[in-house]
Amino acid sequence: MPELPEVETLCRQLRTVIVGRDILSLQVIDRKLGHLPPLSGRGVRSVDRHGKRMVWMLSDGQCLIFQLRMTGRLFWLEGEELPAHARLVFSFPDGRLVLSDPRRFATVELCSPPAASTVADGLEPLEPKRLADAARGRRLPVKSFLMDQRVVAGIGNIYASEILHKAGIDPLRPVCGLGPAEWKRIASAAARILVEAVDSRGTSISDWRDLHADRGEYQHRLRVYGRKGERCGKCRGEIRRIVIAGRSTFYCPTCQK
Ligand SMILES: [Zn+2]
Repeated sequence: MPELPEVETLCRQLRTVIVGRDILSLQVIDRKLGHLPPLSGRGVRSVDRHGKRMVWMLSDGQCLIFQLRMTGRLFWLEGEELPAHARLVFSFPDGRLVLSDPRRFATVELCSPPAASTVADGLEPLEPKRLADAARGRRLPVKSFLMDQRVVAGIGNIYASEILHKAGIDPLRPVCGLGPAEWKRIASAAARILVEAVDSRGTSISDWRDLHADRGEYQHRLRVYGRKGERCGKCRGEIRRIVIAGRSTFYCPTCQK
């Protein structure tokens, strides 16, 4: 599932090919997406990300909001052939943009612009104090808390494990018990990891591909995720896999407390 770094990667790549260009046409192949007009002649003013959502501002003042969900991918094509599972196709003067989505959960909506405050540009800084406030009185494990999209938009299963390892925090710790210094470590670990992951164009553990159908590179830099039984790079302890809220969680019991 695309998380913040993957959606940010798509936004950055899309800016170079569609911002300032006019949409020639939009063809909806999968009716499950609902009705969308052809949008012919409307220009793309900007492409931004909010959490895992992508927002395009159009020249007529409306915006398109994409949510890729489980398996939605956007591919830029210069040739004729559509990829498998194509659900819609935008034609631009220099090429076509296709939504390919085997599980068909992605959504695309045309609407009035969301309030400016809900559209962030770039990576939102995680505020330690805001995290601590949101955690007050709650007992859920810190890993589930980081994946709660109402608290932090865009962090999913892979990056939550990585952030907690970098911060040296046990993923099972109830959030109400974490102190200010620990929130600070989590916030700075998150900022570092998300920036590194964007620089690597995301993590291609399974089927993630970027706009040009290339694999991301961050899977080569994962410190704990998917590394059960291997040695921790910080302390040489053994990395374990546990399940928290139904999701695989990887951590080092020696250096994560
Ligand atoms: Zn360790």
